[in-house]
Order: sequence, then structure tokens, then C-alpha cells
Amino acid sequence: MKKIVVKFGGSNLRQPQDIDRVVNVVQAYQRPLVLVVSAFYGITNALIACVQAAREGAGTKAALAESQNYTQTLRALKKQILEANISDPEHRARTEQALGARLDQLDRYLTGIHCIGDVPTFVNDAILSYGERLSSLLLTEVLLSRGIAAREALPEDIGLITDGVFGNSACDFAASTASVSAALADDVVFVVPGFYGIDAQGKTTLFGRGGSDYSAASIAACISAESLDVWKDVDGFLSADPGAVSAPRSISQLNYLEAAELSYFGAKILHPRTVEPLFDRDIPIRILNITQPERGLQPYTIIDAQRHVTRDVVKSVSSTDDVAILKLHGPGVGFKAGILAQVTNTLDQHGINIKSVLTAQTAINILLARDHLDAAYAALSEHHLAGVVNVSCDDAVAIVAVVGDGVLDASDVGSAIASRALSAALAGGVRVRLAAAGASEVAAYMLVQQEDRKLALRLVHEEFFGK
Ligand code: ASP
Ligand code: MG
Repeated sequence: MKKIVVKFGGSNLRQPQDIDRVVNVVQAYQRPLVLVVSAFYGITNALIACVQAAREGAGTKAALAESQNYTQTLRALKKQILEANISDPEHRARTEQALGARLDQLDRYLTGIHCIGDVPTFVNDAILSYGERLSSLLLTEVLLSRGIAAREALPEDIGLITDGVFGNSACDFAASTASVSAALADDVVFVVPGFYGIDAQGKTTLFGRGGSDYSAASIAACISAESLDVWKDVDGFLSADPGAVSAPRSISQLNYLEAAELSYFGAKILHPRTVEPLFDRDIPIRILNITQPERGLQPYTIIDAQRHVTRDVVKSVSSTDDVAILKLHGPGVGFKAGILAQVTNTLDQHGINIKSVLTAQTAINILLARDHLDAAYAALSEHHLAGVVNVSCDDAVAIVAVVGDGVLDASDVGSAIASRALSAALAGGVRVRLAAAGASEVAAYMLVQQEDRKLALRLVHEEFFGK
């Protein structure tokens, strides 16, 4: 029987009592599963802050004490969780000891940073993986204490091999598939910590922020799972962010491209890379809501390979502030060969990803993640790019995108979508800076003045979904 991979994220793991809901879900499946878990809510951020403090104060006693304080806080937190979830004192003590040993490893890494006064990338990745390593051990023991045959399966033990890029790796499927599927073959509930795999030398490499979704998808691909079930605390993908639009609709069906574009353009529900490993293997993703237990195992959104063109084409409007424009000005940049090659090479050397490029005769607009803007500006200003008179930056922008299979179709409805979105925004007074359609078959987007983001989202959503 094919297995189901089930992912629980930080939003399912906020309070000690939340573990109980997770155990209930595992029981409801009544079959062997592979669980992939994130860190408890907020733990990864706290670990990042801890590394940052250690980096800044490396070598000082105060900074060392601060790290040790943090691992003490984690010890206390884990104890609380154990008390709420494992009633047998002997089992609880054993688990506390095992968690303690893992926290000792974390302590050693943090102390190491203070000794050498630096944070090598491989150490950074190792440290940040501890949130997940604590979750998987804890959940395994709680499941065992409830009589469920569970086994922890660490990426290093099952052979989840990556391409070795620290901080943002991808799974190496050729190297992982056979070992992962052999290691997860038994009929028990396996519990895998998400967020990381290991490189060919056995070092921890992270899949990027929010990467547990990608871990779960990679494992689902390796074992040819029946489905990837992602548990959240919302009703699946929605037609817009409920913070900006009142009563958005839940979307029951999406295809892989739509889900990827929605995530790329700001929907926070799934990591944008989650669909990558599943795409050509046709393994569906099902999004379920853990706060609605009466719904059982019935998903809110199913994502698969099928086209689902709806009558109104647009399924969702998403938006993000995480974008900035780097502008290269020059009277003839649009005509000069080779400028873009130099730009992309330079940015690539600095590890900067380009989100999009829009060119005209006198300017090249490069869209980047906001965090990359300063580094990109510095890198390009250093180089003399022939034909470029000056470089400017703008981060007071936001993206608003309409996503739906058929957005680019030549049909009357399809071809009108981008202009309807744009007109609705402009008519309502949104300052639109740029608009683009055609880059993806299922998405069109505009860049708006950042303060107008919510207004644009509301107007565009109303245009397609009514008031
Ligand atoms: N805990 C990691 C993060 O916060 C991975 C994840 O949650 O998926 O980025
Ligand atoms: Mg997450």
C-alpha cells in the first residue's frame, strides 16, 4: 500500500496542548504514515536571533551567557510539553534525557561559535535545524506513549541527500530515492524532522525558510506517496488574504502551476517550492485544517496536475511586499547587447536571485526580493556597466497578482483578465508602477505603490469575486 506523507507545521505546534490535536489526526488516518514536522512556532526565529547575537558578541562572556540562557529556555519549554503529553513518569524522564542530549549538542555548537568568533555556514545550518530535531523526537515519544508504533527517522539516517547548498539546498533525488524509500518501508508511523537534509559529506543543509513543506514534498516524491497532506490552521488556499479582504472564498481545486504562482506571489500557506518534486510525479497535495476536527480528513484544497479552468478564470488574488526594483538607466540600454548578461552574472556571483526583468529603451527594471536590494545595488554600482548612466533603487512597492488557469488564454474571458485587474486598480486610485502578463500561463501581476497594496488587493478581488 502506498503511504501518505503528512506535514505538521509551526502553526499546528504553538502550545503544549497542540500535540494532542496532532496525535488525534495521526490516529484518525488509521494507517502507517510518514510525518514531517517543523519546529514549534517561533523557535526557528529564536535560534536565528541566538546565532545573530552570538555572531555580534562572539567571544564575549555576555553573549555566551545569552546563548546558554536560550538553551535553558528551550529545556524548560520541552519539559512543559512533556508534562502535558506523557503521563508515565518513567517514559517522561527517559524522553527528557534524550531531549537533553540533543540540547547539549546545540549548546556545543553555540559554544563553538563563541570560541572561534565566527559562524561558518555549515554551523549556521546545523544550529537552525535543532528546532525540527526537537519536534521530531518529542512527537515520536508522545505517539509511543499513546500506543502508536512510531519511529523517528532523521534525514541523516534515511539518506535524504541534498545538492549541498547551505541555507537554500534542494533534494538530490538520484542520490536519495532508493535509500529514503527503503528506510521508510516498515508499517509504522515515521516522524521526520523537516527543514533540512544532508550533503554528500553528511553535513546538515537547510531547505530555506519555511522549508519543511519542501522536505515533506521531497520525501513524498522519494517514496511515491499516495498524497502529501499538509495540515494548517486555515481553510486551505483562499481567494485573497483574509487580513486585506473580508470573507475571501476557500479554493477547492488548484493545479501545481497555480499553487506555485500563488505562493511565489505571496500566499503564505505553502512554500513556493513545494510543488517542484511532485509536479512530474502527479502526487496530489491536500490542504487540511487542524482547527476543524469535525471535518475529519476531508481537505479544503486539493492541488494536482489537472487543469481546472473556472468560469471566472481567476481563483485567487495574492500580494507581497517582499519585492524591490533596481533600475538601470541609460539612453540606450534597451538596445545594447550584453548588459543583461553582465547584470545577471554579477548578481549570480553574489547569490542574488532575480524575480523578474522588464526592459525598455532607456531603463532596465530588475525585480528582486527586498532583502537583496542593498547587496544588488552595491554589486552593480561597483561594476562599470557600459551604457548605464546610473542605478536607482525603489523598495516602496508591492506586487499584486491574479492567478488562475486560463489567465493567458486567447478566449474573450481569458484575454480580458489582466486588463480588468489593472483597470479596477487604476479606477480606484491605486498608483500602479508596472504591469506584466505573459510570463506565466496562469498569472498576471502589477507593481503598485506600497501604501496602496491593500486597496489594490480589495479592488481587484471585488472585480472578480464581487463585494
Ligand atoms: N522552522 C523552519 C522555519 O521557520 C522551517 C519551517 O517551518 O518549515 O523556517
Ligand atoms: Mg512553515
